[in-house]
Amino acid sequence: MLNFTVGPVQSFEEVKRIGAQDVPYFRTSEFSGLLLESEELIKEFACAQEDARCVFLSGSGTASMEAAVANLLSDKDNVIVINGGSFGERFVELCKRYEIPHTEIRCASGKALTCDRLRPFEKKSYTALLVNLHETSTGVLYDLPMISRFCHDNGIFLVVDAVSSFLADEIEMEKSHIDVLLSGSQKALGCPPGISFLVLSRRALNRAADSRYKGLYLNLQSALKNMERGQTPYTPAVGTLLQIHARLLKIRELGGVKTEVERVRKLAKHFRENMCGLPLDIYSERMSNAMTAVSTRKCSAYEIFRILKNEYGIWVCPNGGELAEKVFRIGHIGNLTIADNNKLLAALRELAEKRILR
Ligand SMILES: *Cc1c(COP(=O)(O)O)cnc(C)c1O
Repeated sequence: MLNFTVGPVQSFEEVKRIGAQDVPYFRTSEFSGLLLESEELIKEFACAQEDARCVFLSGSGTASMEAAVANLLSDKDNVIVINGGSFGERFVELCKRYEIPHTEIRCASGKALTCDRLRPFEKKSYTALLVNLHETSTGVLYDLPMISRFCHDNGIFLVVDAVSSFLADEIEMEKSHIDVLLSGSQKALGCPPGISFLVLSRRALNRAADSRYKGLYLNLQSALKNMERGQTPYTPAVGTLLQIHARLLKIRELGGVKTEVERVRKLAKHFRENMCGLPLDIYSERMSNAMTAVSTRKCSAYEIFRILKNEYGIWVCPNGGELAEKVFRIGHIGNLTIADNNKLLAALRELAEKRILR
C-alpha cells in the first residue's frame, strides 16, 4: 500500500529497523540518556525556551490534549477554544468533562480564523486559549503569529496542539510565546502510534507545580519529576520511544527542523501544482504543509477513497460526518517522495478519464 493518510504514515528505514528488534528493558542509564537526548532534540526542533521541559506520555495525541487541559487548567480559568472541526471539538469536550469555564470561537468548516473574531475577546477576563494549529479534519492551518500576538498582548496562556504540524510547518515556541506545544509519534515524526509529548514553558511548569489534578496516569507532576532522570512513572511505549529517538537523530543529521519542514513543503507544493486540471477543489482556506484537503464536485469523495484503496493500493484519508461524501485528504508527511505523488496523481487522472472522478 502507498499511504497518503495523516497517520500512521509511511515510516523510515531507521524507524522500521528498530521495530524488527526486541524491546529492551528501560530502567537503565542507557534508556534515561536516550530519553533526555530526545527531550533536547524536541526542544531544539520546537525552538523552545531554554528553560522549557518536555515529557512523554504513553497514549495517542489525545492523551497529551487531555493532560494539558486536566493538569494545567482549572475552574479558575476562563478559556477560549478555537473550534473549526473535530479536533477543536475535542478540546471543547475536554473542557466540559473537566468543568473548565470556556467559550468557543467557532470557525466554519474549511475557513480560516480572522482577527475580527478575536477582537471581542480582547482586554477581558480570558486566561487561556486552546488551538489545534492545523485543524486536521478540514485542513485549515490557523494563523499562529496572529493568535500569538493576541495571547501575548492579553496575557493569555497559549496551548497549541501541533500533533499534525510539528515538523511539517514552521513553529517557533519561544518566538510565538507558546506555553504548551503538544504532538504525537504517528504524524510527521513517522513513527508508530503510542507516544505523545508536551513541551512546557516556564509558565506551564508553574501551572503544573500548582496543579490540583488528582488523576494518576496523565499526571504531569509525576511525569516531570520522573523526567528529571530521563524516566517515566510507568512502563512507556518503549519501542516507540526508541524509534522517535532514532528519527530525531536522523532529522538532525539531515540538517535539522528547517530541512525537514522544507522537505514536506516541497511534497505538498508538488502535489498542489500538479492536481490542477483534475476535477477537485482545494477545500481549506489556509493550508498546512502536512496535508491537502480536496472536495469533489459531482462524485462521492468516500467512493474515491474506496476505489483508490481497493483498486490502486493507495490510501488517502477519508472524512467522517458531514464531509464524508464531499472531502478527502492527502497527507504529505511520512516517508513519501515526488515519485509517490506521481503515482497518486496518475491514479486520479485515470479515474477522471473514466469519469469516476468528476
Ligand atoms: C491526529 C491529531 C490528534 C491526535 O489524535 P490521536 O488519534 O489521539 O493521535 C490531535 N490533534 C490533531 C490536530 C491531530 O491531527
